[in-house]
Amino acid sequence: MGRRVWAKIDLNALKQNYRVAKVAASGAQIMIMLKSNAYGHGTVVVASALKDADAFGIHCIHEAIKLRRIMPEKRIVLLSGVLDATELALAVKYHLELVVHRQGQLDLLKRLSKASPLRLWIKINTGMNRLGFPYGDAESLYQQVATLPCCHGPIHWMTHFAWASNVASTETSRQIHRFHEALIGLPGERSLANSAGILAWPKSHGDWVRPGLMVYGASPLDHRCAKECGLRPVMSLYSRIVTIISVKKGQRIGYSLSWQCYRDAIIGIASIGYGDGYPRHAVSGTPVMVNGKRCPLVGRVSMDLIHIDLTDCKGAKVGDSVLLWGANLPIEEIARSASTVAYELMCQVSERVPRQMVYNESEEVIYDTAT
Ligand SMILES: *Cc1c(COP(=O)(O)O)cnc(C)c1O
Repeated sequence: MGRRVWAKIDLNALKQNYRVAKVAASGAQIMIMLKSNAYGHGTVVVASALKDADAFGIHCIHEAIKLRRIMPEKRIVLLSGVLDATELALAVKYHLELVVHRQGQLDLLKRLSKASPLRLWIKINTGMNRLGFPYGDAESLYQQVATLPCCHGPIHWMTHFAWASNVASTETSRQIHRFHEALIGLPGERSLANSAGILAWPKSHGDWVRPGLMVYGASPLDHRCAKECGLRPVMSLYSRIVTIISVKKGQRIGYSLSWQCYRDAIIGIASIGYGDGYPRHAVSGTPVMVNGKRCPLVGRVSMDLIHIDLTDCKGAKVGDSVLLWGANLPIEEIARSASTVAYELMCQVSERVPRQMVYNESEEVIYDTAT
């Protein structure tokens, strides 16, 4: 019967989405976001497929060091910088570039000599109120950073958008304006745009763009689907039907007996659950695809199993594969059914789910994390 659950990763789709970002922000350099295991797709595989990118952005220093081992030359940016002197020593050792967003990090950097050169990204808070120095401080920051003995190469200035997915909000324009105003006359490279910035806010392109979600093939915009953005889903999550049962009208299904059959029903049990990262909050009616046909999830999602109403899916049998999201079943739609976002669904696909790398959704597997 084969695998219980697996995720296909379409490397051609990944490369095509990368080109969409490159064309949309032509002229800017590209930092691909690889944080959180490349949004659940696998850091090493994604980095290898997109090795033309100008830099990679990653959050966790241990993920960054792992990446450094296979990419000795590539620029790797640590998105929250370092926590303490121990992490700073590792960053120097592994030639990581650092985001600097608070004074304590500057104070640590002051202790380094010219013998520990580091490329620095100064993060400015323009409205998101998460990481970053107040935008009014840019001038004095410049004086501090430019005189650091360890500061190597041009200073990079960055900021992050709070709500760029919403093209009706005026806040993104305001953030762009604050950033550019604050930096007038100061040397250095500029970076503002996430995926939504790249596709919807051309004034945010600057010298560097930082795409994440769009590269993985989900839409970063509230008002446009992935297809309309020219993006193709990279991940397709699959499971299999492990048994099929008949349930009489009026009977109830699963934990808390939350679903009642409104007719005599044929129910398929598929071997995937929240232990694999399928969202427990997916409501009854969330679509899954069996033999190319949409069928509704019914009842509560269990740790390893889900119920699917197969009454209208004639011919489904034990062993058939079930698509949970991917090509022809947009992850954004599943995210809405589970009151979350595509980002979270991608990241939560758990480690026990093997990733199979393919080109163009083909059956031929190039690489499999389980073998
Ligand atoms: C995650 C992240 C991005 C990418 O955001 P997407 O919406 O996935 O494109 C860009 N910049 C920073 C600082 C981030 O943390």
